[in-house]
Amino acid sequence: MRFDIITIFPDFFHGIFGHGVVKRALTNGLIDVSLHDLRGFTHDRHRTVDDRPFGGGEGMVLKPEPLIAAVESLGIAPKAERSSTRETVILLSAQGARFTQSVARELAGLGRVVLLCGRYEGVDERVNELVCDRELSIGDYVLSGGELGAAVIVDAIMRLIPGVLGNEDSSAYESFGHADATFPNDPDGPPRATHGSGGLLDYPHYTRPAEFRGMAVPEVLSGGDHAAIRKWRRERALEKTLRNRPDLIENADLSKEDQALLRRLQGK
Ligand code: SAM
Repeated sequence: MRFDIITIFPDFFHGIFGHGVVKRALTNGLIDVSLHDLRGFTHDRHRTVDDRPFGGGEGMVLKPEPLIAAVESLGIAPKAERSSTRETVILLSAQGARFTQSVARELAGLGRVVLLCGRYEGVDERVNELVCDRELSIGDYVLSGGELGAAVIVDAIMRLIPGVLGNEDSSAYESFGHADATFPNDPDGPPRATHGSGGLLDYPHYTRPAEFRGMAVPEVLSGGDHAAIRKWRRERALEKTLRNRPDLIENADLSKEDQALLRRLQGK
């Protein structure tokens, strides 16, 4: 999978992509990230990328010429002339559709993702119309640039690419996993490291020491009863989802047992 990031701050990404899973995926050649300095596509002495907005108002806007030249330098045609469905151009924008795990899954199936990072008051709208397949927002708040959003999107997509995580189940069975990614098939085997998301948030995790500042790890987790551990984890995942993200419950894959517990938790 190839990522191209167009930005006025290419150095921004060096630290962010230099650690952990992303670094390993880059080193192993499972992903490739190319950074493109927008100022390299200007033709004036000051390498100008922004200008005042038509109609007046605060701040500056990123000009269309350098951005379009940068996209075209990647061999990507204007939207209307594009034939490949394996590549997509995304504009980072607070006005965009929400970037979610299901969008990440959809994008992980492509071969190439081009990310355009806005700055100042944003980007000349014609860039969006000419070359962008979609505008994505990473949340309902305003950042000072698209770079953090681009890094978030690269990270979320790349961990869904086969081979990037040591254990493929890790991405299928964690928070926001497929609604159909429920318990593993072998009900008698040991529970996997993470499992049973089914569209719920992940359950709480514990590691050593068994007691920390007077707080003991829940007994069931060290009892060796695999079925009991699964049940406990499922219940805690339901509880946590209800508490922190009740909106997810509606689309979760719930068994009769889950539904009974849910009614109890809701005091019904
Ligand atoms: N005037 C814009 C608005 O009110 O929607 C905000 C512009 S913001 C200061 C500058 C750039 O940061 C945007 O062009 C965009 O690329 C990026 N940005 C800001 N918030 C974002 C978010 N929630 N998700 C993704 N990108 C964001």
